[in-house]
Amino acid sequence: MRPGDVIQTKRDGGALSPEQIDAFVGAAARLDGSGWEKYHLTALLMAIYLNGMAPDEAAHLTRAMADSGTRLDLSDIEGPKVDKHSTGGVGDKTSLILGPLAAACGVVVPMMSGRGLGHSGGTLDKLEAIPGFNVHLSETEFRAALRNVGLGMIGQTADIAPADKTLYALRDVTATVESIPLITASILSKKLSEGISGLVMDVKSGRGAFMKTRDRSRALAQSIVKVGTANGLNVSAFITAMDAPLGRFVGNALEVVESIETLKGNGPKDVTELSVKLAARMVRIAFGAPDDTKPEALVREALANGAGLEVFRKCIEQQGGDPRVVDDYSRLPTTPTTTRVNADRTGFVATIDAEKVGIAARILGGGRSRAEDAIDPAVGIIVRAKPGEHVVPGDAVFEVHYRDDAKLTSALPILAGAFQVTEAPPAEAPLILEELA
Ligand code: URA
Repeated sequence: MRPGDVIQTKRDGGALSPEQIDAFVGAAARLDGSGWEKYHLTALLMAIYLNGMAPDEAAHLTRAMADSGTRLDLSDIEGPKVDKHSTGGVGDKTSLILGPLAAACGVVVPMMSGRGLGHSGGTLDKLEAIPGFNVHLSETEFRAALRNVGLGMIGQTADIAPADKTLYALRDVTATVESIPLITASILSKKLSEGISGLVMDVKSGRGAFMKTRDRSRALAQSIVKVGTANGLNVSAFITAMDAPLGRFVGNALEVVESIETLKGNGPKDVTELSVKLAARMVRIAFGAPDDTKPEALVREALANGAGLEVFRKCIEQQGGDPRVVDDYSRLPTTPTTTRVNADRTGFVATIDAEKVGIAARILGGGRSRAEDAIDPAVGIIVRAKPGEHVVPGDAVFEVHYRDDAKLTSALPILAGAFQVTEAPPAEAPLILEELA
């Protein structure tokens, strides 16, 4: 099979055969010079970007990418295995909350997460803010975590979906990231490799999201449900708002604090409600409940009686972290200095731009422009006035935790432009915009 012929098929709007997809994915995984060079791969990626893929093509692409590496077999670990995946946002720390809550309800949660990039945060960076927390468990250690705690939170290993690693790196530099079938295959190939039977997707939509419009978010959610189902996964998807940061704390150690507070029952309403809804759907999928009513009651009970908090404490301990952070936040990294960005008029906070807050957090050192950048776990931003809250001149809208004056100087104007105060309160915006499946 000549790569040029495969590219021509897609260039001319045709459907790729399973054999053509296998050849493309095999070449991406091995890069062994078997006739496919990187320029062939990128030409085909662009043809897919421009002409799309039918659901059965995307389903085969996903399967082939998952099969390009190891697929964990967790059948020897008792219990239903369900994970959650979010397309990424600002202040989204729900994984640290719903993982423990779902595990407290009997779900086994083999969570493989990513790092923050650009303006959005990543679960691994948040967990690593906890002194000693190891996200690089061996397979044996990961299995031990799942057996002992019901929850393991790790990074993707080198042998999970290696084809995705090559293809994502090529997409990143050839303007082919924003393709629904390619995003679907990229996300689901990694999730299928976790050995799960169910997945809850949180597709973010809005200013601070990867998908800015409702239509694009819906198209991605529908594609993930369809392709996941075709690959034997029980998938539920939510489209949720990401216009303003979720919760009040943005930054790695700060988000650990807000997650623990939420598990103690003191979390902000948006973080608590979204975590509960997503965890409840994980429980529903895991146990085949007919609707969310009983799963949600179970999750709320695990929140109220502290069972979720105890799972998180055990998870930290199991993965080498210092569990005393749960009771003593001073054990988490902090910055030597803080400052404030204040309101300069009376009124109601109408908007807080999540993307700008995410960019400011990255500039302070809390995130990355490139995958290899180092981060500072202590820096971040606390949103002191959320949309709908009343402020007068001098009230803090943001509390900025910083270490470096030059970085602060760059971040402050962005934060100053990241909120609006209006005379009338804004209409209350829903957090969960749509549910699919
Ligand atoms: N996240 C992924 O894992 N892959 C994509 O293609 C986009 C977002």
